[in-house]
Amino acid sequence: MRIKPDINLKSIYDINTLFLKCCEIEAVFFDLDSTVMKSKSGEFSQKTIDFLNQLSENFKIAVISNNKNEEYIRKAQSQVNFPVIGCAKKPDIKVLLGVCDDMGIKPQNCAFVGDRPLTDILCAKRAVVKPL
Ligand SMILES: [Mg+2]
Repeated sequence: MRIKPDINLKSIYDINTLFLKCCEIEAVFFDLDSTVMKSKSGEFSQKTIDFLNQLSENFKIAVISNNKNEEYIRKAQSQVNFPVIGCAKKPDIKVLLGVCDDMGIKPQNCAFVGDRPLTDILCAKRAVVKPL
């Protein structure tokens, strides 16, 4: 069985703020590599930072990555104002649910944007977070 997101986005820039508002989404979570930054680059582009900053005016934002490299996660964190969390062990849902809990937002009012069906999308589906 193929695990599919609710919406197929070509890129994060296709995220429709109004649609998410209509779905009562309050927080948007992102995978890191190949979702909000080029794989293994460790650098957000200025375009992505500007986009995420704009998005954060309407939603709480966090990056939730399976990357275990502390230095890499620290480097990513140093470039942005929202949480960048590593070692998430997706599709395990514990870290994702912990972030929802910390933000005081129910999972069903969160969306998760990621590139990998078996980690990102499956994790979102298991946590009842909207997978994009
Ligand atoms: Mg990825």
